[in-house]
Amino acid sequence: PGGLVISVASTHTHCPYCALNCGLALETEGGELTGQGRWKGSPLTGGALCAKGAAAWQQVRHRDRLRLPLVREGGRLVETDWETALDRVAEGFLRIREAHGVDANAVLSGGSLTNEKVYLMGKLARLALGTRHVDYNGRMCMVSAGAANTMAFGMDRAMTPLSEIERADVVVVVGANLSAAYPVVVPKALERVRRKGGRIIVIDPRAGRFVADEDLHLALAPATDAVLANGILREIARNGWVDEAFVRDRTVGFDDALDAAMAWTPTEVERVTGVHEDRIREAARLIGRADRVMYLHARGPEQQAAGTMNVLSLINVALARGHVGRPGCGIDMLTGQRNGQGGREWGQRCNQLPAGRDIESPEHRAEVAAAWGVDPAVLPGRGRTYIEILDMVERGEVRGLLSISTNMRVSAPDSGRVPATLDRLDHLVVIDPFLSESAEHATVVLPGSTFGEEDGTVTTIEGRVVRVDQAVPPLARRGDIDVIRNLARRLGAGEHFRFFTGAEVFEEMRAVSRGGPIDYSGITWDRLRDDGGVFWPCPAEDHPGTPQLYTERFAHPDGRARFHAVVPEAPPVVVDERHPLVLTTGRVLAHYLSRNQTRRIEAHERLAPAPILEVHPATAAALDLVEGQPVQVESRQGTIVLDWVANERIRPDTLFVPYHWEVVNRLTASLLDPISKIPAFKYTPVSVAPLGAD
Ligand code: SF4
Repeated sequence: PGGLVISVASTHTHCPYCALNCGLALETEGGELTGQGRWKGSPLTGGALCAKGAAAWQQVRHRDRLRLPLVREGGRLVETDWETALDRVAEGFLRIREAHGVDANAVLSGGSLTNEKVYLMGKLARLALGTRHVDYNGRMCMVSAGAANTMAFGMDRAMTPLSEIERADVVVVVGANLSAAYPVVVPKALERVRRKGGRIIVIDPRAGRFVADEDLHLALAPATDAVLANGILREIARNGWVDEAFVRDRTVGFDDALDAAMAWTPTEVERVTGVHEDRIREAARLIGRADRVMYLHARGPEQQAAGTMNVLSLINVALARGHVGRPGCGIDMLTGQRNGQGGREWGQRCNQLPAGRDIESPEHRAEVAAAWGVDPAVLPGRGRTYIEILDMVERGEVRGLLSISTNMRVSAPDSGRVPATLDRLDHLVVIDPFLSESAEHATVVLPGSTFGEEDGTVTTIEGRVVRVDQAVPPLARRGDIDVIRNLARRLGAGEHFRFFTGAEVFEEMRAVSRGGPIDYSGITWDRLRDDGGVFWPCPAEDHPGTPQLYTERFAHPDGRARFHAVVPEAPPVVVDERHPLVLTTGRVLAHYLSRNQTRRIEAHERLAPAPILEVHPATAAALDLVEGQPVQVESRQGTIVLDWVANERIRPDTLFVPYHWEVVNRLTASLLDPISKIPAFKYTPVSVAPLGAD
């Protein structure tokens, strides 16, 4: 009695480093963040965390955090107060708009933001800046999977919860680096499948650590995914394993898809993919005879010049066998970024309005305009995608750029050209919790908030909407929602942005989504806390949500799924005498995206201080690479120096390097999938030589 009372609190929230969104508890004492604990009741993961997630709290009050805005003065970024910085931001965009028109400003946003910020960034671009050019970094990540799902099923969401994996008889894992990218839930589920006698088929030029000896590994040549899938489809058909009733009652287009696949005999498939024909037959037999199969795909088939068609070829196999819409079955894209799912739902894509609405549909435009209280004519039309916007900057067509939660200088392909591109801008505004490489080119940098500092929602890899709660106030005193509100006011659109919290934004989003392709209207803020997450679509407050999609109907108007005839094509640029090997990129467990958050944490940097090239021992011997000595890697875009290690579990004609470092994307090219505009990060022709060799 009479003593000092220090309040101790534990805030349940979700890890910011991948789309599994593992639950965790942020601990505070006297309002200060003191650490992180387990949240045992959290959905899906039950409190488990990987090494990266276990240290997530350390970024929130890290010494490198930006505490004040920065403005460029005399060529240098110097600290200033918020009012001065926000005035400078707005003046710059207004000046450009006045002189060069609305589309001379653009927005690049991110798939790590909460749903609420995603929604606000799209709204800010269209109502406050008036530009059509708004896109996000998911464009470089998995949009081809989203496009394929929309084309095949009429909706862009993983169809089956990950908890169903262990009920499958066979799991097909395609181009997914599970031990690094989804370490908590999926590898354990695969282990349970193995223990009960099920089989795992892995389709990947490189076997990750999760691949066991008893698994069937099809180490295909990069960029031959559709050939392999067509070959499997042909074998399934020839052996009478097609689910005729399912194909007849629930799909259209099977005959055309099969016609396109019939040229791909096992011998032909072996010739192109390098996978022995017996293994192709074995994969087809396992899939063809199993009642329950889960297909999990990630960036391997997706980040290619034919990314959308690759995913469609895999979907053809699943549809032919009727492996969708029932227990232990489904084809799921494994989204990568923290809010990779919600990031592509809420209107920050150049072709999309909130709740998955099509920006070119008059009906959808009218619905959103009515919800926002504006004339539909006010809404700009379809804009350009992420890489295309950078191209417009390079050509001087875009002069003002607002960037949040993305780091172009590290993440964009052919990154060697990005610094000069950013320097062409008259006005670059970067919102980020830390000074990123891209922020070094900014005219104004605004401190962003981290995951423990604002409330909101994210939508997990499975399509489950979960809440992230605020544990401590934003370090720089203003959260991102506050910043967006103040910017909108300065840009003359303040009446559309009267939001102070994520909960308030979420209420508007629920209303906007009512009756739309992505319906959150039955998900209430309180329900998210009490129920631990709700799967959309959820059209009413007493609706339980929809963990399993397509049990009776697909989302196309006729309720049927679409097969697609896939005619595999070689990449537009292929290996040759000068660049005879293929470089693929991917993640390591220790880091997240461009490392702007994780490189600050000592434990992560210790685990992975630099990008290491993986080379098959036979290739290393043929090239005279010496253990412990760096190598020079050259592509058509650039030359870099890397350390290397031998890896027997990668194809001899293929190399792997993690992408988290700026130097890596100096090698990759800006070749885009024509449908989704995803860059072909998974196929870069390169040469490798000992450093200093002629
Ligand atoms: Fe979970 Fe992903 Fe965070 Fe690791 S990084 S704790 S797997 S959400």
